[in-house]
Amino acid sequence: MTSEKVDTLVVGAGQAGVAMSEHLSNCGVPHLVLERDRIAARWRSDRWDSLVANGPAWHDRFPGLEFPGLDPDAFPGKERVADYFVEYAQRIKAPIRCGVEVRKVMRNRAGPGFTVETSDGVIEAARVVCATGPFQRPVIPPIAPDDAALMQIHSAQYRRPAQLPDGAVLVVGAGSSGAQIADELLQAGRTVYLSVGPHDRPPRSYRNRDFVWWLGVLGLWDIEAQAPGTEHVTIAVSGASGGKTVDFRALAHQGMMLVGRTEGFRDGKVRFQPDLAANLARGDAYYLSLLDAADAYVERNRLDLPEEPEARIIPPDPDCVTKPVLEVDLAGAGIASIIWATGFALDFSWLQVDAFDERGKPKHQRGVSCEPGVYFLGLPWLTRRGSSFIWGVWHDAKHIADHIATQRKYLAYRDAGERASGDA
Ligand SMILES: Cc1cc2nc3c(=O)[nH]c(=O)nc-3n(C[C@H](O)[C@H](O)[C@H](O)COP(=O)(O)OP(=O)(O)OC[C@H]3O[C@@H](n4cnc5c(N)ncnc54)[C@H](O)[C@@H]3O)c2cc1C
Repeated sequence: MTSEKVDTLVVGAGQAGVAMSEHLSNCGVPHLVLERDRIAARWRSDRWDSLVANGPAWHDRFPGLEFPGLDPDAFPGKERVADYFVEYAQRIKAPIRCGVEVRKVMRNRAGPGFTVETSDGVIEAARVVCATGPFQRPVIPPIAPDDAALMQIHSAQYRRPAQLPDGAVLVVGAGSSGAQIADELLQAGRTVYLSVGPHDRPPRSYRNRDFVWWLGVLGLWDIEAQAPGTEHVTIAVSGASGGKTVDFRALAHQGMMLVGRTEGFRDGKVRFQPDLAANLARGDAYYLSLLDAADAYVERNRLDLPEEPEARIIPPDPDCVTKPVLEVDLAGAGIASIIWATGFALDFSWLQVDAFDERGKPKHQRGVSCEPGVYFLGLPWLTRRGSSFIWGVWHDAKHIADHIATQRKYLAYRDAGERASGDA
């Protein structure tokens, strides 16, 4: 049986796979993109209905195309984002084959390259780029109670308030997903408990510039690694309702019950750590430090941006912060559902090559894996903070395409004798 041969196989056609295809084409590298579902599937199917991009349209895009017909300062809805990548893929004529899952990749023992088993046959590839996403497998921590009376879902499964049974909701995790979902539930009239852990909380905008602009000019998108000890610090931002700063105290003043990190469940009760005030203080410190850095930047560069002293006003602590609730009786509080907004893990079980450390983390340098011919793209902090985001992945893909093109150039080299004998 003959198998199909490709030079470079890209697995996944989200934004990473589309960007990869563009740069490979620009470098003249023959390639094929396999997508088990459809282009930008996760934007369409794995996100809640009302989700809009966290960054404005002028920023959260690839350099070569604006969001057609959209105010650059608007926050596109998730379907618009998915449409954008479909249109982009069409424009660059990306060779994407949808509905084909990559099930196994193995290095060839008897020769170069990889044997790739897919749902549609076997492919021989000289190189494989893994563009299967930064958020592959929803993670629910082991503390989740074994309680049939509760509906428990991950944020990746949340769609809309009406999907949940009547009653109060506990949202665990207050990063961008948890904060937005909790807010939506509160506005829908639900009683909401929000379990808030350590977080960074940037201002949505300051002095007429969105925070994505500030992170850009201050060089903060380019930070190469998380500071030690901050690996579990999430970021709480939202483009919902036209874009507002995530303000947990304001949500509490509207009736949301803030609690600290969720510690565990026992005897029908949930316990929270006494760290709510500290977590909010940490978020405030980050928020104020960004305002300080922004002010210093304005002054140093003599920019004419309006002052905004009111941005420094932090609302008073609500009762749930000054008198923290450390235990809640689930039935007594009427909690009927829990949404675990607790993040994602990677799953490269299909990639059976020597490219992982002892904890299963990909080993790579700027996406170039330690297993020659294997590349990773789109992972959180692949090269820097921006790596898993729309605009950042495009730049990382360029580097990987350059690396592949350079390797192909080495392999294409022929010495004088080979050239003379016409061994091209
Ligand atoms: C709730 C949420 C909101 C976000 N908002 C923003 C935002 O506003 N702005 C921003 O810049 N970033 C945002 N992100 C981060 C990031 O942009 C998205 O996670 C984005 O989907 C990542 O794109 P990707 O192409 O790297 O991965 P994915 O979108 O996950 O695409 C990977 C693709 O690979 C396919 N695939 C996986 N395994 C296989 C296989 N074995 N064979 C074939 N195909 C496979 C999947 O079907 C999928 O289509 C958000 C993330 C989340 C979770």
